[in-house]
Amino acid sequence: MIRSTKIVATLGPSSNDLETLERMFLAGVDVVRLNFSHGTTEDHRRLAEAVRETCRKTGRTVGIMGDLQGPKIRVGKFKDGKITLKPGDAFILDADYELGDQGRAGLDYKELPRDVNAGDVLLLDDGRIEFTVERVSGNEVHCRVVHGGVLSNNKGINRRGGGLTAAALTGKDMVDIRTAAEIKVDFLAVSFPKSSADMYMARQLLRAAGGEAFLIAKIERAEAVEPGALEDIMSACDGIMVARGDLAVEVGDALVPALQKRMIRMAREANKLTITATQMMESMVASPVPTRAEVSDVANAVLDGTDAVMLSAETASGRYPVETVASMSRICAVAESSTPVSLDREFLDRVFTRVDQSIAMAALFTAFHLKVKAIAALTESGSTALWMSRLNCGVPIYALTTRTGTRYRCSLLRDTYPLMVNYAGTDREELLAESENVLLDAGLVEKGDLIVLTIGEPLGKAGGTNTMKIVKVGEHRRA
Ligand code: PGA
Ligand code: MN
Repeated sequence: MIRSTKIVATLGPSSNDLETLERMFLAGVDVVRLNFSHGTTEDHRRLAEAVRETCRKTGRTVGIMGDLQGPKIRVGKFKDGKITLKPGDAFILDADYELGDQGRAGLDYKELPRDVNAGDVLLLDDGRIEFTVERVSGNEVHCRVVHGGVLSNNKGINRRGGGLTAAALTGKDMVDIRTAAEIKVDFLAVSFPKSSADMYMARQLLRAAGGEAFLIAKIERAEAVEPGALEDIMSACDGIMVARGDLAVEVGDALVPALQKRMIRMAREANKLTITATQMMESMVASPVPTRAEVSDVANAVLDGTDAVMLSAETASGRYPVETVASMSRICAVAESSTPVSLDREFLDRVFTRVDQSIAMAALFTAFHLKVKAIAALTESGSTALWMSRLNCGVPIYALTTRTGTRYRCSLLRDTYPLMVNYAGTDREELLAESENVLLDAGLVEKGDLIVLTIGEPLGKAGGTNTMKIVKVGEHRRA
């Protein structure tokens, strides 16, 4: 069954061995996420090598996303590893304290006492525990427990409404950006950006280190969804992640579904990628089947038009990593096939002035109306495939490229299937014939099928797509 929506799976103890990786790839993973919050540089290097090896073995194009930890604001460690808090308890967050106990905990983020005020609501451990701030005195934040529970070492702290001043890129992130460039990740996710400035900074550091990855802005701060902020961040990234875990804590969980829809629509209109993330199949951490609510959540993200759906703990530390991927794949494919395809009406109002973009739009329109078998986009940078994939025309887009980096960066695009063309010559007819061969050999088209093909002339220049052809497969002279 062909599936348009892509699956991102986070790697961790449950999934970082070669055998599980292979089974997950065959079950349908399109991109793996390396979480830089855990593990050493050496771990990331080894894991990236294992992913590449599994790509070779399975013949699949699975991209790698590095995810920076960012300024996650956390409590320190506890003497006994954890404490249990009851509603009504008094509790102090103390920037000068070391090992925590029943009444007091230290802070990783020493600025917290300067960022909060009496009356603020603090949420710990993804909102499972809630404090109100009663007063701040020096480096101590005096709190009252509203919702209690078990609080263990290094759990995250968010303020409802956002507004904590920590910079988006920490010293550790800067080191990790160099690692990301070195292991040639295809996507780099930046945690907690507040504005385009954070994304420019990350991009500059990545490019300076020689990295070519697409930059993904994780939308997980209240400031990032204030009027104008999303537009600003989107202007400086290649894609966004709807990071529902932290976002729900900052803005309140009930606002997240509407924000998800708005973000995906805006991103597609701005020619950006989208990943919908966190707790999509959460119960499968411990169970071999998803809940009805999870099935609906994944299907609804597909209907919202997301490029990819993401798994976190389900594949990183859960009991059923392979089964979760297989379930998610099935849910996506069925959701896609049960919705009729119609070209978005807004298509007609779209503004584009670039030649390559105009060809991409023309190809999309033609493919939809002629009901061709496939679109073959010969692409150097991947941009042509990106533009085509922003609207669903019901026809698969094969991104044919001679560049390895482009091939892997296309792994996240909805409706798009990257393929390598090994051709180094300059003869256009030969390249076209070679491209047809790739599609024929993979069994994706048959002789006589009608396809829409796009190409840039002269050959070999990125951003040069200027030609659209409608061809019957098999017409081009064999190389
Ligand atoms: P995380 O980001 O898993 O790195 O916290 C995703 C989210 O917050 O939803
Ligand atoms: Mn997060």
